[in-house]
Amino acid sequence: MAVRGWRPAAAAIAAARPGGGGPGGAPGPAPALERAPEAGAGAAAPATAALYVHWPYCRKRCSYCNFNKYVVPVVDEAAVRACLVREARTLLRLSQVQSVTSVFFGGGTPSLASPGTIAAVLEAVAGVAHLPAGTEVTLEANPSSASTPRLAGFRAAGVNRLSVGVQSLDDAELRLLGREHTAAEARGAVEVARELFPGRTSIDLIFGLPGQSRGAWARGLEAALGLCDDHVSLYQLTLERGTALAAQVWGGALPTPPQDLLADMYQTARTMLVAAGFRHYEVSNFARKGALSTHNLSYWRAEQYIGVGPGAHGRFVPRGEGGHSREARVQTLEPDNWMREVQSQGHGTRRRVVLSPLEQLEELLALGLRTDEGVTRERWGCFSPQLSLEAVFGAPGEAKALQEQGWLILDSGGLRCTMKGLALLDSLLPDLLCQLQRCWAPPAMPEEGSCARLQHPEEDPVGGSGAGGEAVGRSGLAGAVSRNIQSQNR
Ligand code: SF4
Repeated sequence: MAVRGWRPAAAAIAAARPGGGGPGGAPGPAPALERAPEAGAGAAAPATAALYVHWPYCRKRCSYCNFNKYVVPVVDEAAVRACLVREARTLLRLSQVQSVTSVFFGGGTPSLASPGTIAAVLEAVAGVAHLPAGTEVTLEANPSSASTPRLAGFRAAGVNRLSVGVQSLDDAELRLLGREHTAAEARGAVEVARELFPGRTSIDLIFGLPGQSRGAWARGLEAALGLCDDHVSLYQLTLERGTALAAQVWGGALPTPPQDLLADMYQTARTMLVAAGFRHYEVSNFARKGALSTHNLSYWRAEQYIGVGPGAHGRFVPRGEGGHSREARVQTLEPDNWMREVQSQGHGTRRRVVLSPLEQLEELLALGLRTDEGVTRERWGCFSPQLSLEAVFGAPGEAKALQEQGWLILDSGGLRCTMKGLALLDSLLPDLLCQLQRCWAPPAMPEEGSCARLQHPEEDPVGGSGAGGEAVGRSGLAGAVSRNIQSQNR
């Protein structure tokens, strides 16, 4: 398949790099099996998908981080690159995706990868699917690996949006978080990023640190507003088991941030960002001048996405099986195991679970309500042509009560949270999910735990989770995808 609409610069870099492209790292042209087959006539599934690519390595562990990342003395980048390329090709082919709507390089620290690796993956994607010119291609950058030449290299490779992990502009807070960079380095990285990616530089900030006051947070945010471009992601610090910071807090060495203070910090941030012209378009995300993240919107709209790389998650919509089907996929977590699997079978998919119609609706609800557009009637109808939003949430019950209390809106646009409801989404969701489950009359389903077969002869069976694999149970899928998206969205 010809490369359509992709940057020649990416092709040039890919051609110049060593050993890239072929299965198992073997150089040479892509084999025929890595072409995307045509979709079957009348297939209901969409032929588009967002693509997430996970770079699993970091130079240092941050004190709060429980993401799937690895700190190793040496990274065999050529091998990792070959596996990312091969897995991207394989999964695009298996999913029969014809056009990729966005690409997101997350991690780990993908700004530690060389621009040649980023170019190679983009070139592989463009070789098996349509990657229209101007498609959003985001890369997460750590300020400590965001020099001007490096960022310029990423831009030449095809990246057109940068997400900079600033986290704080206070050196003491950065030390507490175990970040590798200083506030000055973060400032410098954002300034360079804004020059190279004007209007398309996002920054991540964390609030709710142990001992952080509301005033300190507000001052930090004020400083960040003086630095940022048109997209800001805010994350409340969560203490995760197994992290150094959680051990300090739970051991009593650091104070636990009170819930009231955390709520106050969130409201403060929202007020300040909205006053600065930002739209609060998702629980943790703010944009102005239309600079919303296309890639993350595709998660929240429950669209198809493909996860490439160790531990990446995906949602496949298998084609040709009739109806609206959706399959959760998780790639093998540990990079060396993942690479062995990719080298031997073309992909490192560790787990596949077909989501029941109810589970699909639960995901749609849990993700869609994170956004200010909510769950539109049109989108709901794609997943539930028989049972309307009105039939579920317009009937007397929990949702009606939440509407009357001003937390929720159900109107001709669909179902969405009010601004005050958005801040309390986690508390509203259990009631809404209960109401959905009561209304849902399950159609005939495959047996519990069974996996749908894809229609491609090259597909290898993937069984239950083994060593190093991550189980995706039927319960808690909405939570799992929500966490996954958080980690893919820093
Ligand atoms: S927060 Fe980011 S940079 Fe820090 S250890 Fe985790 S993945 Fe690496």
